[in-house]
Amino acid sequence: MIPFDIRTVAFMLGLLSCLLAGMLLLTGWHLKSIRGIREYALGDLCIGLTFCVGGYYSPLAADDECMVLEAMVLTFGQSLRINGIRAFNGEKPNLLLPFVIMILVGINTYWWVVVHTDASLRAMTNSVFFCLINLLCIRALSIRTETLVRMAYRLTGGAYAFLVLLIALRAIATLRTDSPADHYYVNHGFLLLASVAQFCAAFGFMLMLNYRLAAALEHAASCDSLTGALNRRSLALIADRLCLQLTKLQQPLALIMLDVDHFKSINDRFGHPQGDDVLRRLAELARASIRNTDYLGRYGGEEFCVLLPNATESEALQIAERMRNSIANTPLPTETGDTITCTISIGICDSEHFGLDFETMVNQADKALYYAKQNGRNRALTVAQLNEVAVAA
Ligand code: GH3
Ligand code: MG
Ligand code: MG
Repeated sequence: MIPFDIRTVAFMLGLLSCLLAGMLLLTGWHLKSIRGIREYALGDLCIGLTFCVGGYYSPLAADDECMVLEAMVLTFGQSLRINGIRAFNGEKPNLLLPFVIMILVGINTYWWVVVHTDASLRAMTNSVFFCLINLLCIRALSIRTETLVRMAYRLTGGAYAFLVLLIALRAIATLRTDSPADHYYVNHGFLLLASVAQFCAAFGFMLMLNYRLAAALEHAASCDSLTGALNRRSLALIADRLCLQLTKLQQPLALIMLDVDHFKSINDRFGHPQGDDVLRRLAELARASIRNTDYLGRYGGEEFCVLLPNATESEALQIAERMRNSIANTPLPTETGDTITCTISIGICDSEHFGLDFETMVNQADKALYYAKQNGRNRALTVAQLNEVAVAA
């Protein structure tokens, strides 16, 4: 014997889904920048309410109208969830889909309940609809996402896959059972497990939202909002972590400091907004010139810093020259039809000479950068070259 009342459990899980839906609705109300929350929340509400009703009425004792309405509200809610997931992914939701599916399921249920009463065929045909809707949810969840959010997507997708399995098993069991007692167990067992799966799907979306917000916060805290490069704080954190790792691996670290030449005059001539565009473009070109394993950070104002793990000064010099040429040869068109051509000066240093210490490396690269500025600008200089110049002098 089952030691608890399944209908009460289904009712309570339905109620919890409704509460989660309320929380999501409130969140979606305030958080307009993330799409899909309200659609998913309304879907959760419809589904939660259906399970409350399904738990309150026995699935076998429900009257005809109630069954039709229940099936319609359930599928409407489920299709709203598909749209919620699509919008959350940044895809275009299909606004007609929930209504079309709801009407189709309504007609189908009405047909097998009222016109040609056949509980088995009703269950079978509706199972096909429910399976398809849940498979659409799984498809909408099967996209590439950032690592942090991926786990929540997979968990939610798992809840839908479990639902598809349950619906298929229930359809088979309904076909193979004749006695009302067996029907009772199949329907009540399904009600229990399906309400657990639906609750997990509601909870899964909460988790997706939570991770999405955590990822956005992490990005805002670690990246410069103008250029998308790492900000100075996270650059220093990454540098410290790299120094520890590379010390263990006994590999070098190279550092590039770059500064825009005469940037003040660009601002003065074209205005600050155009100056901002130049910085944005410069960061893009710099990012395109470095390796996947390198880190670009905005050190301050119009100064940027690149960390190059496992690279020496001469390897960093090649990358820096590529960057310098690409920036000098890519004029930025302005709205007034002018073009802005800017150049950069670069100082380079590696850990072979001064050890794996970020502060020291920045100071050394800065010295080379200063010399590059003093000697014509639009040039890259390593600390080794600077020392050769000093010795020669
Ligand atoms: P140098 O070749 O010696 O580096 O000359 P410079 O004009 O580039 O250097 P200076 O330090 O005199 O001026 C830097 C300018 O960068 C001053 C500041 O207003 C501007 N700046 C700093 N941050 C930003 C920013 O985010 N946007 C814009 N548009 N300008 C910025
Ligand atoms: Mg400058
Ligand atoms: Mg500067």
